[in-house]
Amino acid sequence: TPGRVVVIGGGFGGATCARALAAAGLNVTLVEPSGTYVACPFSNAVIAGLREMSAQTFTYDGLKGAGITLAARAATAVDADARRVRLDDGTELPYDRLVMAPGVDMNFEALPGYDASAAGLMPHAWKAGEQTLLLRRQLETMKDGGTVIISAPPNPFRCPPGPYERASLIAHYLKTHKPRSKLLILDAKDAFSKQRLFTAAWAELYPGLVEWVGLSGGGRVIEVDPVTRTLVTEFDRHTADVANIIPPQRAGAIARQAGVADATGWCPIDPVTFESRLRPGIHVIGDAAIAGAMPKSAFAANGQAKVCAAAVVELLAGREPAPPKLVNTCYSLLAPGNAISIAGVYQPKNGLLADVEGAGGLSPQNASSEVRATEAAYAEAWFATVTGEAFA
Ligand code: FAD
Repeated sequence: TPGRVVVIGGGFGGATCARALAAAGLNVTLVEPSGTYVACPFSNAVIAGLREMSAQTFTYDGLKGAGITLAARAATAVDADARRVRLDDGTELPYDRLVMAPGVDMNFEALPGYDASAAGLMPHAWKAGEQTLLLRRQLETMKDGGTVIISAPPNPFRCPPGPYERASLIAHYLKTHKPRSKLLILDAKDAFSKQRLFTAAWAELYPGLVEWVGLSGGGRVIEVDPVTRTLVTEFDRHTADVANIIPPQRAGAIARQAGVADATGWCPIDPVTFESRLRPGIHVIGDAAIAGAMPKSAFAANGQAKVCAAAVVELLAGREPAPPKLVNTCYSLLAPGNAISIAGVYQPKNGLLADVEGAGGLSPQNASSEVRATEAAYAEAWFATVTGEAFA
C-alpha cells in the first residue's frame, strides 16, 4: 500500500512535516545526519552573550518516540524516476512521496574571497552552531574601540530581518561592554525588512554606534580578504576588527542534486501541495522552496510542513488537496526584553503564494516599552511552541 514517505532534513520544516505525516498514520523515515539540531531563531542573542547555546539545541528523541524511523545519514542522491533516496552509506530508501527540507547552503561561489575556509576567519553565523560561537568569541576578544562590520546579502535569503536583529543585539553588546566601538552594516540592498522600525530603534537605543550603508550608497560588498579582514565595496575598502559576512545563499546541495532547484538556485513548487514543479513525487518546503511572498523563516517552514503533510496524505489517498492559507510572523529583538514583529497571511494565486491584501502588518512605529516588552514575551512563547512542535 502506498504510504512510505521519506523526509530529507530534520530542521523546522522536515521535523515538523515528519511528525504530521506520522500522526496521519503514514510510514515515515527522516533522513538527517546530525544527532542534534541547533536552532537559528534567537541565535543572535547567543552572539550577543544574552543566551546559552543549550537553549538552541534539540535532539531527535521526540521524533523517535512519535514512531518515525531515523536515518542518521546524509542523503547523497535522489532518483526521482525510480523514487529512491541514496544515503552516504550506500543504503537506498524507496518512497511513494519524498519531502525535501534541506534548508540553505551558503553560496561560496558568489562572493570573491569568501569560501568555506574564509568562514573560519569571517564567520557567517547563518547556520547556528560552531559559527555562532565563533562570532561570539570574536566579539568577546575584540578591543574596545574596534569596528564590527556586517555584510548583508541580496534577496532572497534566510530570515529577511535577521541581519538587522543581529546588528541591534551586537550594538547592545558593544554599548554595554565596549562603548567606544562602532558597527557598520554594508548592505547589498536599498531596503530591508522592518527598516523604519530598526532605524528608529538604532537612533534611540544606540546613537552614533550603528551605521547602515545601502546599495546606492555603495554598500554592496563585492570582494573580501579574510586574512586582513578587508571588505571591498564598489567605492571603498573597509577593514574590520570583526567581520560577519552573510553571503548570498541557495537551496541545500541535495535539492540541486535531485533536480528540484532551478537556475536561481531555489526550488519552484506548486503553492497548494508544495510539490516540485520540476520533479513529480517530490515536495519541497522551508527555506529551499520558492514560496512567493512568504519569507524564508522557521515560522513559514512550520506552516508549510503541516500544509505539505496534509497534501501528501490527500494525494496518497487519491484525493485532491484543498488550497491552503498560510501565516508568518517574524519577531526581532532590538535589545533584551524589547522586540518588534512583522506578520503576513498568504494564499495561492496565479501559481504562487501571494500576500492576502490587508492582512498582517508591522509593530507600531512609536510603541511604548510595555508593548515592545510584550512582543519580546510573544517571541519567547513562539520559540517554545515552534521548537516543541518539531522536537518535543
Ligand atoms: P533548516 O532548519 O536549516 O533545516 C535543514 C536540515 O536539513 C538541517 O538539519 C540539515 O542538517 C539537513 N540537511 C541538509 N542537507 C541534508 C542532506 N543531504 N541529507 C539529510 N539532511 C540534510 N526564523 C523565524 O521564523 N524566526 C526567527 O526569529 C528567526 N531568526 C533567525 C535568526 C538567524 C540568525 C538565522 C540565520 C535564521 C533565523 N530564522 C528565523 C530562519 C530559520 O532559521 C530558517 O528559516 C529555518 O531554519 C528553515 O527551516 P528549514 O527546515 O527549511 O531548514
